[in-house]
Amino acid sequence: MKKNFETIIIGAGPGGLICGRDLDDALILEQKEEIGKPVQCAEGLARYFLDRLGIQPDPNWISATINKSQAVLPNGKTANLSTKEGGYILDRVNFEKFLAKQCRAEIRLQKRVTDVRKEGEVWRVKTQDGDNFESKYLIGADGPTSIIRRKVFQEKVEIYPCLQYLVEVEKEMDCHTMKLYFNQERCPSGYVWIFPKSKNTANIGLGSGGRINLQAVLKDFMENTIKKDFGDCRLLKNISGVIPLVKKPIKLVKDNALLVGDAGAMVDPITGGGVGNAMIAGEQAAKCILSGNTDSYPSKIRFLSCFNENLFLVQEILYSLNNKSLNEVGEVLEEAGGDIFYLKNLSALPNFLSKPNLRKNIFKLLKLILIYKGYARSKH
Ligand SMILES: Cc1cc2nc3c(=O)[nH]c(=O)nc-3n(C[C@H](O)[C@H](O)[C@H](O)COP(=O)(O)OP(=O)(O)OC[C@H]3O[C@@H](n4cnc5c(N)ncnc54)[C@H](O)[C@@H]3O)c2cc1C
Repeated sequence: MKKNFETIIIGAGPGGLICGRDLDDALILEQKEEIGKPVQCAEGLARYFLDRLGIQPDPNWISATINKSQAVLPNGKTANLSTKEGGYILDRVNFEKFLAKQCRAEIRLQKRVTDVRKEGEVWRVKTQDGDNFESKYLIGADGPTSIIRRKVFQEKVEIYPCLQYLVEVEKEMDCHTMKLYFNQERCPSGYVWIFPKSKNTANIGLGSGGRINLQAVLKDFMENTIKKDFGDCRLLKNISGVIPLVKKPIKLVKDNALLVGDAGAMVDPITGGGVGNAMIAGEQAAKCILSGNTDSYPSKIRFLSCFNENLFLVQEILYSLNNKSLNEVGEVLEEAGGDIFYLKNLSALPNFLSKPNLRKNIFKLLKLILIYKGYARSKH
């Protein structure tokens, strides 16, 4: 069996698989027995990413089409977060199997990488079963706890646990709307989400930067929100996992080794989503290898949301607002039609400042308005 490849990719998640799509002399080493299983994701993906990667949406790997995404504030007021393009709730197992079929790279399963060393120009990769492989290029697409990030780059990231279940509900839900619930008291520096998979099932979970009992908060949410809106619910499967976050970008390329996706903490600072960013990074990593210029990799992916300083600022402001302030944001947005992009109007400032708690946050609001103004200008 061939042991020497131009490129070795560690990890057959969305990032590694897209990277392997365009590389001929490449091997993907994956620890799982089956591509995509188990799922540890809410499976939301903006349409933009598929368009950019030239992937046609396919009902075989789409559970639901999303045309609305809503922030729900503590007082129940909602803000529309939707973009024009919309998105999907994937069937991630089938999606990854679809990506695997498109791969030119060879994929070997049940190959957990346990050691990596550089000898001269060659990367030597060892797997748990004692196999050894070598390559010129090395891709660390091995997720949030990446061995490549730790051993080759010696970079550290913060790891946040997320608790999530596939849940069956009694009453029909709107399976075109994603909901994000913000409540600083119950789920500080984070949110609870409902991503519908079908009329009666959804991925429901939460992540938080605070020291809270995720299980207790989710239980409370199920009993007080889900039951009220959707009747009795049944937890079908635990699909929890972890999200990597960094305050400053880490090194992503070194000696022909590149980090892709969660391995490089490429998650969106607001949503924690990383599937789309991982795929774009995988695509760009492959292009850099094909052009023989791996040093250009960071500049090719600088536009991704995970490197956008403004989004980190929005995250900081959002999580610094207490429930009273969040409720007032909801009130103002509702009076103005409920769209988050109302924030792009400087003329909105007096309306926000008419609220007592928001008045105390005038500088934060002004910053938000300026960021949204710039964001709207770059998008339209
Ligand atoms: C609860 C939860 C909900 C989420 N919801 C969303 C969402 O709705 N939308 C979104 O965009 N993102 C979401 N994310 C984040 C998303 O799952 C990740 O950003 C995405 O999977 C990153 O893709 P990746 O290819 O970089 O890594 P991964 O998908 O983690 O793939 C890495 C692969 O590497 C393999 N691997 C790891 N170590 C080794 C090793 N030593 N040897 C061999 N193989 C190895 C793993 O088995 C895995 O298959 C969520 C995350 C969590 C935890």
